[in-house]
Amino acid sequence: MKILIINCGSSSIKYKLYFFPKGHLIDKGLIERIGEKNSSISTHTQGVKKVFENLIKNRSVTSLKEIEVIGHRVVHGAETFREPHFINKEVIRKLEECTKLAPLHNPANLEGIKACSKVLKGVCQIAVFDTAFHQTIPEYAYMYAIPVKYYKNYKIRRYGFHGSSHQFVAKRASEILKKPLNKLNLITCHLGNGCSITAIKKGRSVDTSMGFTPLEGLMMGTRCGDIDCAVVLYIMEKEKLTPGQADMVLNKKSGLLGISGVSNDLRVIKNQIRKGNKRAQLALEMFIYRIEKYIGSYWFILGGADAICFTAGIGENSVETIDRIKKDLRKVIPGKTRILVIPTDEELMIAALSYNLVRDSKGKRKVRN
Ligand code: ADP
Repeated sequence: MKILIINCGSSSIKYKLYFFPKGHLIDKGLIERIGEKNSSISTHTQGVKKVFENLIKNRSVTSLKEIEVIGHRVVHGAETFREPHFINKEVIRKLEECTKLAPLHNPANLEGIKACSKVLKGVCQIAVFDTAFHQTIPEYAYMYAIPVKYYKNYKIRRYGFHGSSHQFVAKRASEILKKPLNKLNLITCHLGNGCSITAIKKGRSVDTSMGFTPLEGLMMGTRCGDIDCAVVLYIMEKEKLTPGQADMVLNKKSGLLGISGVSNDLRVIKNQIRKGNKRAQLALEMFIYRIEKYIGSYWFILGGADAICFTAGIGENSVETIDRIKKDLRKVIPGKTRILVIPTDEELMIAALSYNLVRDSKGKRKVRN
């Protein structure tokens, strides 16, 4: 069965085509600059058409009918979607409702779904949610200590993100450790431009560092992570910032970039440190300190872990940074706890979840609708 995975951003479409049940990658690509000035692709529908053209051109499929399933990455599923879902009109309506919780991400994901329905009429589509893996977090960990009416009226709570990545890494850790996932306690650290850490107890997410939005938790490339909320109110008042401007400061101008003043990219920061840039050094120290602080607290709530896993751009490639964290961790955690670097593959996880849903519902439901 050929499964196409579509990951739509506001101006890009990342895609991967797999063959299942083996999970072999057949083709992959990226359509960029959708809707930008001087770009030949002005809409997601055109972008999706281009994806299909590429697949035919590369001979990855001879006819589009070979694509039996399209799996979509959807950032926010709120409390409505706790697992992957077949997409139909009702699901699209509910996804539109979730959009108010992720105004930057979900609209692009929806565009992708609608574009695929237009271009490949009747194809079976599945939505896989970044938030779903974290729906097992208990109430005492997902509630914020603000009046409960805000949860009741606006669904304000911790949701967590990067779910497919944490889930993939946990699954790989269980293969590496040769122990069933439901018998493992893990701390998974996704360290890319966006960064999050998840505490996994017997295979289920019980806490994660990102919250209502991806802003909370670790210090990131351009996001501030944890901060005293009063600081935000104070700056807004002092600098007469609108909520949109404040959002821009916290999401786009903070983190490694805000502290170093040079870049959100750890490679550039490392270079600057070699040249003696003190702010770049401070940015790295803060970045590492917060990771270690989170690992420590998750270690405690889990009562220890079988492994601590690092993944994504920094986790997989910044050997120096991870070695430094490992060295610090080894001073306190027992030797039997493994420290693993595991390359993530969110698309493969989305494909596997889509395949499982189709396989488990065979007979109950036609694949092409
Ligand atoms: P995104 O969240 O955008 O998918 P990535 O997972 O690609 O991000 O991670 C981007 C981060 O990974 C950047 O900070 C980049 O500096 C870092 N990174 C990638 N390769 C290396 C490397 N070889 N050494 C250090 N940092 C790296």
